Amino acid sequence: MRVIVVGAGVGGLTLAQGLRQAGIEVVVYERDGELGRPQGISLHIDERGASALRACLPAAQVAMAEATMGGPREQTLTLSEVDGSLVVASRQPADGLAGRARPGRQAHRPLLRAVLLTGLEDVVRFDSEVTRFEQRPDGTVRVWCADGRTDTADVLVGADGIGSAIRRQYLPDVRVVDTGRRMLMGATPLRAVAGTGLPDLIGDSPASLRAGDTMLVLGVLRFTESPATARKGWLPGLSPNAVAGVEDYVMWALPTTQDRLGAAKKPAEVWHRATELITDLPPALCAVLAQAWPEATVALRIGTIPPPRAWPASAVTVLGDAIHLAPGFGANLAMRDAHHLRDALAEAHHGRSTLLDALAGYENTMRRTSFTPAKASA
Ligand SMILES: Cc1cc2nc3c(=O)[nH]c(=O)nc-3n(C[C@H](O)[C@H](O)[C@H](O)COP(=O)(O)OP(=O)(O)OC[C@H]3O[C@@H](n4cnc5c(N)ncnc54)[C@H](O)[C@@H]3O)c2cc1C
Repeated sequence: MRVIVVGAGVGGLTLAQGLRQAGIEVVVYERDGELGRPQGISLHIDERGASALRACLPAAQVAMAEATMGGPREQTLTLSEVDGSLVVASRQPADGLAGRARPGRQAHRPLLRAVLLTGLEDVVRFDSEVTRFEQRPDGTVRVWCADGRTDTADVLVGADGIGSAIRRQYLPDVRVVDTGRRMLMGATPLRAVAGTGLPDLIGDSPASLRAGDTMLVLGVLRFTESPATARKGWLPGLSPNAVAGVEDYVMWALPTTQDRLGAAKKPAEVWHRATELITDLPPALCAVLAQAWPEATVALRIGTIPPPRAWPASAVTVLGDAIHLAPGFGANLAMRDAHHLRDALAEAHHGRSTLLDALAGYENTMRRTSFTPAKASA
């Protein structure tokens, strides 16, 4: 069996690693260059993502990923300011119940992506945008790249994110709705705010503070092992660039709207706009943004996809943000999709089911489990 994966995001790369582990030939086409585009610095990884990583990745990659996550996040904190000092006003368990966050650990997104790429160097084709596909009479699928190259496989997986070209051609009725909401995300070196008491106050837990219409979410990532040391011990094949200069930091996220963001686009412009939007917040939090790395700031579009009707299975399928969106936990869903799809394709590869039955089973599970948490996503 040969599989073409379109998109080297967390979902596509987890799938590619898993297919390799199962002895299935895979090639990944990625529109961007090797460094990718900024998508925010942190991901909260819960048990859905963590178990997909353990199932799909070689042991060394799993060890590296786990060694470089932050400590356990078992509660979420609400902060307030009392007499000029920040205090914890309330704590909620992160138990995944009643719309609350699930427990997990924070991961450095660019480092996790580099770990996912390690070992796939010979199968990932960067700077290769897939523009369309054709299902052929013999059951195979052919894809075309923007530069005119073509390739053919038994299965095509669209793991190409919110703007998926594969979904647009395959499931043209599926709509992405722009909510108009934006999430400005950035990071500040921990050493710059170590003296403020904030990192000790919140520990490893996500924390938020609201003043009027403005809310800021914060999370400290103290690497369990320093990335450079972990690379030497667990995954020497990881590019040294992936760990160079990576240090403990405070992640911050500021929900806003496109109207309030205005024309800011470049990272430094978005950072500057974020500092303007939080002037109602306590000075300790303004200081976190003031000392941020401006170039690490992004403005992420928050979209939603209404649940689609079931479609008949074929040799083309989709996973992750290409078919469902959940801004706070979409990477976990994308990795879980990859895990389920890898298991389904391995069943077909070993002759224990037909390819179409395997794909139909994967898609039924994905539609049932990934569209139900819409309320939690909101
Ligand atoms: C503000 C915000 C915060 C978030 N925080 C979290 C969090 O803490 N935890 C969490 O689990 N999730 C979080 N998410 C969601 C998470 O970022 C996404 O759900 C996740 O990245 C989806 O992974 P994916 O592999 O499906 O798609 P992506 O990561 O988007 O990857 C798609 C890839 O496909 C490539 N591509 C696109 N089109 C083509 C083409 N035509 N040809 C070739 N390649 C193509 C892209 O370049 C990209 O590399 C957050 C999202 C937002 C907006």
